[in-house]
Amino acid sequence: MPDVQCQRLMPAKNKYPHCYGDNTKFNRYAYRPAHWYGKLVYVVHRRVYCNDCKREWATINEDALDTLDPRIKELFPFLFPTKYGPGIAKEMLHVHLWAKIKGIDGGTFAGFFNEAQRVECAKLHNAYLDEILHWRSNPPLAISSHIPDPFSPFDDHEAYCGVSIFRRTLNASVRLFMNENEKYMQHMHQMWNDNSASTYDSHKFNKQICAGLSLFW
Ligand SMILES: [Zn+2]
Repeated sequence: MPDVQCQRLMPAKNKYPHCYGDNTKFNRYAYRPAHWYGKLVYVVHRRVYCNDCKREWATINEDALDTLDPRIKELFPFLFPTKYGPGIAKEMLHVHLWAKIKGIDGGTFAGFFNEAQRVECAKLHNAYLDEILHWRSNPPLAISSHIPDPFSPFDDHEAYCGVSIFRRTLNASVRLFMNENEKYMQHMHQMWNDNSASTYDSHKFNKQICAGLSLFW
């Protein structure tokens, strides 16, 4: 994403997040799943290699994003809490935090979306069985095998690849999410702040109007 939307802010060369050197080369494209409510989004990214350290890393990793302009990192819609595991949409973490305040814990929150994914998997299974029936009654002219490939289980990473949301993913993500967002959240609840011109403050003015009216009553 940053390559297209934030071209002028992108450095000419990727920096290796550990040595901060830019003697690096683009190795290949890769993709990694990220949770988007009940669905998975595959985020295409680059894998870059440091010629000095002889190590490779993914440009969507948190430490790699830290080497870029903060604006790029803050606008990137996903957060990947580990080097190889799945990511999560930042807006889901907003929902998670609000749900938590209302007494809905991380396990219950993850359960909603894991169930949604499994329901989608069951629908696909149904469509698959339908297709098999069609295939048997209308066989194609040339077939290599009379035994169809079986439908893969939900967690099969070679085939269907559903990815459950785990509490540890949520917890690790929330920590990183708060590092990035807490300052904005704090500003939301202040009457004025010097750091950001775009605070949402209509609710604060409403409170003032109420206080003003109470003087007359
Ligand atoms: Zn290096």
